[in-house]
Amino acid sequence: MTDSQCIFCKIAAGELPAKVLYQDEDVVAFHDIHPAAPVHFLIIPRLHLSSLFDVGTEHQALLGKMLQLVPRLAREQGCDDGFRTVINTGQNGGQEVFHLHLHVMGGPRPWKKQ
Ligand code: 5GP
Ligand code: ZN
Repeated sequence: MTDSQCIFCKIAAGELPAKVLYQDEDVVAFHDIHPAAPVHFLIIPRLHLSSLFDVGTEHQALLGKMLQLVPRLAREQGCDDGFRTVINTGQNGGQEVFHLHLHVMGGPRPWKKQ
């Protein structure tokens, strides 16, 4: 259920360093290495799903959990005045890392619009 070539699987397994802000048995959240905003973190499932294209009925609870975590973790990171949530999917969606991840960006404006 992991891809040995995948950098986000390696981060989830603790084999690559990352600034982890939350983890449990299903998901890991860590700060983006190239932040596009004062606060920019990613939430990933431990399960290797390449993108939203791989999501099926059996993943509904997992995706619900990821989404529900967003406002909680955003608040903990100081994003009380709001935040942006992005999921890039596939080549034309601008996806660069092919392990499903949800971006959360926030903090005082201005910051790069994505
Ligand atoms: P995508 O374009 O696939 O939605 O975004 C991938 C994101 O992952 C980018 O914002 C990029 O900065 C981030 N990223 C890529 N490699 C690493 C890494 O090794 N560690 C961390 N923390 N972030 C990464
Ligand atoms: Zn992976």
